[in-house]
Amino acid sequence: SPIHRRYNFCAGPAALPTAVLERARDELLDYHGRGLSVMEMSHRGEDFVAIAEQAEADLRELLAIPDNYRVLFTQGGASLQFAAVPYNLLGHGGSANFLYTGIWGKKAMAEARHLFGGAPVAASSEASGHTEVPRQSDIVLSDDAAYLHYTANETIGGLAFDYVPEAVQPDGREVPLVCDMSSSILSGALDVSKFGVIYAGAQKNIGPAGLVVVIVREDLLDRARADMPSLLGYKTLAEAGSMVNTPATYSWYLAGLVFQWLKNDIGGLAAMDAINRRKAETLYAAIDASDFYANPIARRNRSRMNIPFVLADDRLDEPFLEEAEAAGLLNLKGHRSVGGMRASLYNAVPEAAVEALVDFMADFEKRKG
Ligand code: PLP
Repeated sequence: SPIHRRYNFCAGPAALPTAVLERARDELLDYHGRGLSVMEMSHRGEDFVAIAEQAEADLRELLAIPDNYRVLFTQGGASLQFAAVPYNLLGHGGSANFLYTGIWGKKAMAEARHLFGGAPVAASSEASGHTEVPRQSDIVLSDDAAYLHYTANETIGGLAFDYVPEAVQPDGREVPLVCDMSSSILSGALDVSKFGVIYAGAQKNIGPAGLVVVIVREDLLDRARADMPSLLGYKTLAEAGSMVNTPATYSWYLAGLVFQWLKNDIGGLAAMDAINRRKAETLYAAIDASDFYANPIARRNRSRMNIPFVLADDRLDEPFLEEAEAAGLLNLKGHRSVGGMRASLYNAVPEAAVEALVDFMADFEKRKG
């Protein structure tokens, strides 16, 4: 039977561009006439090293990553970075500070506390029920702050920062800004120079789950704790070209194909940004125009990547999901901790998918609302 790819709104692992999967399929058994798959290559061989270097070069070009930043392709999911960041940045003492805006930030904070204690909250959106992120003027670092961590886009709550926070003490001392960008990286252009560390699990806008991209400013490589597991060390990874042990070679290759798709098929991050803006505007407009659907997030902080919404009557949740699936719209169920619906509109979700979704929503409301 012919291949029929449906519209996939999954929060992660998320949709990949069909063109990327087609290319991977074409190269799966025999990469460029070598008679073997990328999956079967030595990571130290010429072919894979070229694939790895090209992926890094393309990512650097897409994000305009300055030369004084190192790019790491590592493993363990974004969650292992919740531990890796404090291990790497607390070697000179001090405490990790957090902006708390939802579930992922809370997990990052819990891990830092579990390992090294402390980890004060520099600002929080808790009082608003995580519907509005703190303003710059709300952020108060502890005197011993070694860095400030935040989650650019809370994947479950659908809450996104509309600005890059500044991590400055009242006396003007600046501390490194660390960002979990798992669910928003590559959705638009970025000024990397504002950050000390950016990390992102791959399974939304980059590639397969398990792979993690870390972008770290070079001068931060010497702040690691001595008691750190060596595989978590940014300096160790940087010096070994992310090949301390066997890297996730196939995932790295697929990430590289995604970067080429972004460059060549989409036309770079400015173009991607415009597409993502249109997609999110289309869905929020449909939600806002109806009393049947609702999204609680303050407008300035609405996520473009993950759009949660509820139905006026939650007894209609199950029929909504069943009919959506029958209409080829997959994975719209909200996170188990919040219920309702969530449409994730990552880069690989085409505009046509959003059009199909809002048409379905209007039709469902007409019949059931
Ligand atoms: N941070 C954010 C913002 C996420 O959305 C996720 C997962 O969805 C994670 C961290 C955890 O990623 P992983 O499952 O790769 O550890």
